[in-house]
Amino acid sequence: MQLLTSSGLLSTKTPDIDYNKVVNPITDGMDPDMTIHLSSDKEEATFDPLRLYNLPKSKNRMNVALYPTKDQIPDVNSPQVKAWVDQIDWSKVPNIPVAPGTPEVKHFPKCPPDSEVDPASCWWSCSGCVAPEDVVTCPDRDTWGLTYDDGPSPATMDMIKHLETLKLTATFFIVGSRVLEYPEILKEHIARGHHIAMHTWSHSGLTTLTNHQIVAEIRWTEKIIRDVTGLTMKYVRPPYGDTDNRVREIFRQMGYTTVIWTKGWDTNDWRMLQKQVQEHEIIQSFQSALTNRINITSAQGLPAGPITLEHDLTEATISLSKRLIPMAMGNGLKPMNIATCLNDQTPYQRGSKLGPNGATEKINDGEGKGHYRGMPGMEEQDFSSDVANKDTTREQSSARSLTMPNGILQSVAMMMAACVVTGLTGIVLLTPL
Ligand SMILES: [Zn+2]
Repeated sequence: MQLLTSSGLLSTKTPDIDYNKVVNPITDGMDPDMTIHLSSDKEEATFDPLRLYNLPKSKNRMNVALYPTKDQIPDVNSPQVKAWVDQIDWSKVPNIPVAPGTPEVKHFPKCPPDSEVDPASCWWSCSGCVAPEDVVTCPDRDTWGLTYDDGPSPATMDMIKHLETLKLTATFFIVGSRVLEYPEILKEHIARGHHIAMHTWSHSGLTTLTNHQIVAEIRWTEKIIRDVTGLTMKYVRPPYGDTDNRVREIFRQMGYTTVIWTKGWDTNDWRMLQKQVQEHEIIQSFQSALTNRINITSAQGLPAGPITLEHDLTEATISLSKRLIPMAMGNGLKPMNIATCLNDQTPYQRGSKLGPNGATEKINDGEGKGHYRGMPGMEEQDFSSDVANKDTTREQSSARSLTMPNGILQSVAMMMAACVVTGLTGIVLLTPL
């Protein structure tokens, strides 16, 4: 049986760290409600990323009553979710059983013995199976798919600012429910040319969820990000890389391409937060990966460039990332967001819009002309004719979602009143990242 980490398979290409001797937080009883403090409580209470980075407050603050609870699996019995479920052709979704979670973490998949894993399920997180359509590498050997997961968080702007000084852009895999607190940061991603993609609503292992829960996770995340930015995402990274052919087919019908990461290129920055490895060990391991990067091959066996896994959830992981970037660049790798590394000219789905009230407003250049801030070429895109998305039900679903009465979400609003929104006082990690 493969050992499972939060991020997928334990790397066997990191000779400098014997992860088999490292405590596995999943099997060794990590506290699932562990809170990681950003700094001192006093500092947290006064930390305001918007003020620090001089970001404007949203003209329209997020109305939390209109969305499910932060970091919780959305209710599947709401009329909204039922309408979304009805749009899926379930006859095409493989009948793969919902995976059990671990005793410690309910929605982190528990891998069965190898002999009991059905090869037809192509369960990446338990067998390492990569489906032909999965993106796990960049096609050019010298390009590096730079990705950050689990934000937006108070630490995200630090990474954005740093990348700007380097004139680099990355893909940020967004946890939908965390947009409730930081919609302005999400807009900054777009305005500064970064690429955003889906990382679900509650950050649960998707193979542990029912079909309807998966739909709810995706559609609510899609909705909040579209409400804030005008964009409908096209790429998704399942939390922990936990996907199988059931999850893939649901994603496919919603127009999403799955992105995981290159085997051996999980930086394991999340382990640092749990004090299982130290920063210098990660750097040593990353250097080894760089030295051996000539061996990276795509799913089709062609020479390829790496896609890494990092997190913009804390200052510690961002500080680490600031050290890894020059190492990789010094080794000849060119960091870039996933859409650019794939040479994808349409990084968002049909139905996306830039403005007004879209991803970013037009900037007047002082000569009577204007341009959009954002990914190069976005302003030339005709999002209404994105051939990558053939799901003709999408626009119907969008219209339907906008006309659903808000009153149906009263129960959600009541839940919100009792919800512990960690906000600036700390970040709850249900599992490793
Ligand atoms: Zn994650």
